[in-house]
Amino acid sequence: MHNPTPGLPEFDYVNPASLAEASQFLADHQGEARPFMGGTDTFVRMRDGFWKERYIVDIKNLDGMGTISFDPETGLTIGAAVNMNKVVASPVVNEHYPLLAEAAHSVASYQLRSRATIVGNICNASPAGDTIGACLVYGGSLKVHGVDGIREEPLSSFFVGPGKTVLKPGDIATAITFPPSPAGHAGRYLKLGRNALSDLAIVGVTVLGYPNGETPSGYCFRIALASVGPTPLVAAEAETILAEKPITAAVIAEAAQAAMDSCSPIDDVRGSGRYRKYMVRNLTQRGVVEVFSLISEQWTVD
Ligand SMILES: Cc1cc2nc3c(=O)[nH]c(=O)nc-3n(C[C@H](O)[C@H](O)[C@H](O)COP(=O)(O)OP(=O)(O)OC[C@H]3O[C@@H](n4cnc5c(N)ncnc54)[C@H](O)[C@@H]3O)c2cc1C
Repeated sequence: MHNPTPGLPEFDYVNPASLAEASQFLADHQGEARPFMGGTDTFVRMRDGFWKERYIVDIKNLDGMGTISFDPETGLTIGAAVNMNKVVASPVVNEHYPLLAEAAHSVASYQLRSRATIVGNICNASPAGDTIGACLVYGGSLKVHGVDGIREEPLSSFFVGPGKTVLKPGDIATAITFPPSPAGHAGRYLKLGRNALSDLAIVGVTVLGYPNGETPSGYCFRIALASVGPTPLVAAEAETILAEKPITAAVIAEAAQAAMDSCSPIDDVRGSGRYRKYMVRNLTQRGVVEVFSLISEQWTVD
């Protein structure tokens, strides 16, 4: 017999007319309905039998979800339905938040990025999500529409476990917002995969740095780690070392060691926990050296 949806279970496609209708439907069908954007996680998880929702709710055409806007005073807003290729190609993202474009470009292939979204990457809450680190270090927050109204959820407190977030039934992230990026900043996303293209990170290290007159070192660094814990991590101790001590090769090595000590990765098909820890140290060291060489006039990469 002909199977119209090979590999996928049967489900109902729901196309709400408004955010209010979408949130209400999701809240009324808790446990059996799920929103989707690009669907690049959703349909794979359904095909593989991990998710068995009866209703799949298409929210990507709802108002205001498809645009990128920038204001020098208030910062950047990326609608939840904006796909990663649009982020990679966006002039304002490349001028003011280049690390976001670099991170989005590291995701899989052009074809996948024409569907996949940054907000989907975040809401999927995989510790390996490639764009999450850049969103964390730029101070991102999600705008969330729920049955009780609209609120902001800072990414710093958004992730509660693998695949788990603070979102409640009926909640829909409508956009991610960022404050103005720090003057003179530079960033790097160093992703270690099993191949150069189209693989999830064994380890991902995001480094953002900028001159800062208020820290003893004269600089501020933000460092996020992917695939080395149950949630995306911030290497806070490493950041403190780089803020408090004059930056030298030895201090960068100390910060990289602190980043390594801050994570507790598991063994899995992509790499052992021990290997991941050492790669966190090596990639943090490399990332900080590269970023420091860009933000400091006296320093060059060895
Ligand atoms: C072949 C392949 C390669 C991949 N490679 C990578 C890679 O290199 N790096 C990487 O990080 N990921 C990778 N992924 C995973 C996936 O593409 C990303 O996580 C992507 O960003 C998900 O975005 P999406 O819009 O497709 O999410 P969807 O599948 O639409 O949604 C993902 C999850 O988020 C929830 N969600 C989505 N939007 C919202 C919203 N607005 N409000 C509330 N909840 C929401 C959904 O309910 C679902 O639980 C890959 C996937 C495939 C199939």
